[in-house]
Amino acid sequence: MDNISFIINQLAEDREQYFNAVAPPIVQTSNFAFKDFKTLRETFEDEFSGEYIYTKSKNPTVDILRKKLAALQGSEDCVVTNSGSSAIFCSILANVKSGDHIISVEKPYSWAARMFEVVLPRFNVTHTYVDGRDVNNFIEAYQENTTLIYLESPNSFDFQLQDLQSVADFAKSKHITTIIDNSYCTPIFQKPHDFGIDLCLHSATKYIGGHSDTVAGVITGSRERIKKIFDSEILNSGTSLSPFNAWLLIRGLRTLEIRLQRITETTSKVVEFLKNHPKIQRVIFPFDKDFPQIELAKKQMTGACGLLTIIPHEIEYQQIELFALSLKNFLLAVSWGGHESLIMPKAAGMKPEDYDKNNPEHRMIRLYIGLEDADFLINDLKNALEVC
Ligand SMILES: *Cc1c(COP(=O)(O)O)cnc(C)c1O
Repeated sequence: MDNISFIINQLAEDREQYFNAVAPPIVQTSNFAFKDFKTLRETFEDEFSGEYIYTKSKNPTVDILRKKLAALQGSEDCVVTNSGSSAIFCSILANVKSGDHIISVEKPYSWAARMFEVVLPRFNVTHTYVDGRDVNNFIEAYQENTTLIYLESPNSFDFQLQDLQSVADFAKSKHITTIIDNSYCTPIFQKPHDFGIDLCLHSATKYIGGHSDTVAGVITGSRERIKKIFDSEILNSGTSLSPFNAWLLIRGLRTLEIRLQRITETTSKVVEFLKNHPKIQRVIFPFDKDFPQIELAKKQMTGACGLLTIIPHEIEYQQIELFALSLKNFLLAVSWGGHESLIMPKAAGMKPEDYDKNNPEHRMIRLYIGLEDADFLINDLKNALEVC
């Protein structure tokens, strides 16, 4: 924990460089001047290791954030991008070529799925989705041309996990690169690199920013792997993060640990309330004692975040809408990880005629627990469950 305090408060903050200001400056510049040809030439040759030249590649404010996030995730290096989706795009693209095959956990985050299903087939890259709860499914899906395994543990709707150690061991034995979307756990609650996962990414829009005001992404890994992504996919797509957004994320990081502590306490109270409510059939939350993969969750995660899913008993589409709209303190909105509690029913993305009340998946309602007081949220849920 001392280590987290040091990273969040001190690491990479060179205050003497900027008038001993406590908060770092936003170095809002597009380009940087040079004093000689040699340094300029060397930087042209290697923007990753060279001096500051252009904010699309590197910037001092952004570098403070990079160093903190790399240290928090326990990796050598890190790049930050202008969204979680661009972190997904760049990390996958850097690791496939025409003819390759990807094994991905089924139902990955929507823009990862779109990349596998729509973008990559145009370049002759194929994929197989597997139920990631059993490592044997990865082994069975292996082909001679498999070069990448894509994980998301837990995912952000039904929270299925993969055994990171076993998948990483298998991947290493076949020289396959592994990528995990670690957004749910944050760099604090899960350390995929410790299990041998090569690249770890986050939507920093969620907990790292934490205030619902910034869209950003992170990729961590070895210096060599990060340099490879940076030199090509990041510079070519120009998806680096702006200094102002980096500054907002540094500010978000100051309270990451304490926000997670608060959310952990509140979420367990909300889960207890919902589990005992007669209208709720099931609560899905990775650290709940009835979660099917609770042992694996406790083995590889040190905490769970504020996302959970409830499945009410058979309920009409209109009642789900009534429930969502009756909540006064949960906003009906996408995303999560901010200060405010949210609700996102699966039915909200479906046409009423496609909804089947006998299908538990259709009845899934995702809740995100924010920084509010537990009783404030529980009373709201209690009232809304009464009317629906
Ligand atoms: C939101 C999210 C992303 C995408 O991040 P953006 O910052 O919205 O582009 C990726 N993975 C997960 C699990 C997410 O929740």
